[in-house]
Amino acid sequence: MKDSKKKRLELNSNGKIFIYRIVVAIIFIISILLVYTINDMSNSKESVAMQIDNDNVITTEKIDEKIPSEENLKKLQDWRLMLVNYENEMPRDYKPKLSVVDEDRLFDSRASSSLIRMMEDMRKDGITRIWAQSAYRDPKKQDELIQESIQEYLEQGKTKEEAEILTKRSIGEPYKSEHNLGLAVDFNNIDYAFEKESAFKWLTEHAQDYGFILRYPKDKEDITKIKYEPWHWRYVGPEYAKEIKEKGMCLEEYIDYLKGN
Ligand SMILES: [Zn+2]
Repeated sequence: MKDSKKKRLELNSNGKIFIYRIVVAIIFIISILLVYTINDMSNSKESVAMQIDNDNVITTEKIDEKIPSEENLKKLQDWRLMLVNYENEMPRDYKPKLSVVDEDRLFDSRASSSLIRMMEDMRKDGITRIWAQSAYRDPKKQDELIQESIQEYLEQGKTKEEAEILTKRSIGEPYKSEHNLGLAVDFNNIDYAFEKESAFKWLTEHAQDYGFILRYPKDKEDITKIKYEPWHWRYVGPEYAKEIKEKGMCLEEYIDYLKGN
C-alpha cells in the first residue's frame, strides 16, 4: 500500500515535469519567431531609407531586393562612386570644391592631384601628346553645349529630331553629366582617333592605379546608354578602379553588384 502510493506520487511529479518542459519549449519557439519577424520588419525599413538616401527613384518592387552588407552600404555612400547618368540626376545643390588642373580646366579638389600626377607620369613615359580637353563643366553651361551640338548636326544636314537624338548620345543633360560632378575628364581631341594614340594604350594599362576608369566601354553601350567614348575617363579612386577593371564591369554594373543584385 505504502509502495503503490509512492509510485503514484512519482508518476504525478514526472507528469508535471513533462508538461513544464513542453511549456518552456513552446515559449522558446515563440520568442525565436518573434525575433525573426521584428528583424525582418526593420530590414525592409532600412531598405526604403537607403533608397531615399541615395536619391534614387523609390519603387515598391525594390523593397524586396537583397540588403547590401554594412561594408557595401558604406561604399555606396562614397562620393567617389556617385552615379550620375541618364536616369540618376545629381543633387541640384551639389557643388564640389574645385582645383585647377591646367590654365583652363577644373577638377574636383579631392581628385585633381591624381589627374595631374597621371598626366605627368604619362609624359615621363614619353607620351607628350596628352591634354585635358574638358573636365569640370558647370551644369548651367551644359545646356549651351547641347544647343551648340544640335546646331552642328543641323548644319550637317540632319533633321531636328536626328540632331537631338545624336546629341543625347554623347552629351548628358544638365545634372546628368559626370562633367558636372567634376570627376570626369575628356582627353585630347575628343574623337575616335584617340583610340589609336599611345596615350589611350597607356591609360588602358595604368589609369586604374591613379583611380580612373574608362567610363563608357564599347561592350557596355546597352547599359550606360552612352556611345563608346575612348576619351572619357572617370575618377573613382584606385581601390574601386582596380576592382571594376578586374571584374570587367561598367560603373552601373558595379553599383548594382554592391547593392547585392
Ligand atoms: Zn566626357
